[in-house]
Amino acid sequence: MTTPAAPVQWPDGKKAAACFTFDVDAESALLGVSSQHADRMTAMSHQAYGPLVGVPRILDLLHRNEVTSTFFVPGYTARRYPDVIRAIIDAGHEVAHHGYLHESMAGLNEIEEAAILDRGLDALESVTGQRPVGYRAPMWELNWHSPGLLADRGFLYDSSLMDAEHPYELAVAGSRRLVEIPVQWALDDWEQYCYIPGFSGSGLIESPRKAAEIWGLEFEGIRVAGGCFVLTSHPFLSGRPSRAAVLEELVQYVKSCDDVWTTTLGEVADHTRKLELAPRSISRPDPDDL
Ligand code: ZN
Repeated sequence: MTTPAAPVQWPDGKKAAACFTFDVDAESALLGVSSQHADRMTAMSHQAYGPLVGVPRILDLLHRNEVTSTFFVPGYTARRYPDVIRAIIDAGHEVAHHGYLHESMAGLNEIEEAAILDRGLDALESVTGQRPVGYRAPMWELNWHSPGLLADRGFLYDSSLMDAEHPYELAVAGSRRLVEIPVQWALDDWEQYCYIPGFSGSGLIESPRKAAEIWGLEFEGIRVAGGCFVLTSHPFLSGRPSRAAVLEELVQYVKSCDDVWTTTLGEVADHTRKLELAPRSISRPDPDDL
């Protein structure tokens, strides 16, 4: 049976939490769909902008505002840009798992998905020297067997589900658990900015002001609800100058809210685990019982 997640208590009297997260998809976003995209020099350069220009700009932004963040990195991105990924670690941020080639896991069986998870883990460990504790499925596409694969590999948390606005303990088969820190499509810059001919469809390129209005309004709602605001940005999108400038305004506003804990997903997961919450079971709807 699926039950609602209970709200959590935040440390130091805070009323809510906020995490600015960055998915360094780079070329993997396209190559995971088709290796044929490798032939497209301009499209590849659009994706390379993320690690080459976006990440350094975002690291400066975070440093100026004394914010630590979580960066989700596909293993191939780590292999292609090892110095960029090490710079993220050196600046005190968290690097977490985001597939190997940003593969959609939808429809994969456990053996296929496990091989991708292990390949991504190997790449991140060899580049950073650290084993990640966090995972975000590419396209946020978890399978019902995915939490068990993550628990098998010692992950502390996942950030791919959408059924709450605060973290919870997800029950995993075998009396295990995984902290879940939920996300939502409205808090993703992809839906605002992503236009890649021959890949993303005819997506609009929205004004950063409109994007920030959506995100700021949802931040206020989640703050009142005592939840965890998780914004997902992509350096190849939000690393562009006007978007980064507007993102910085939002970071500054969130940081100015004394009742909000601005931190990494890893810190939120550590805190959630210490609360010793009762794990929630989420059940798959049975197609034979509709
Ligand atoms: Zn991604």
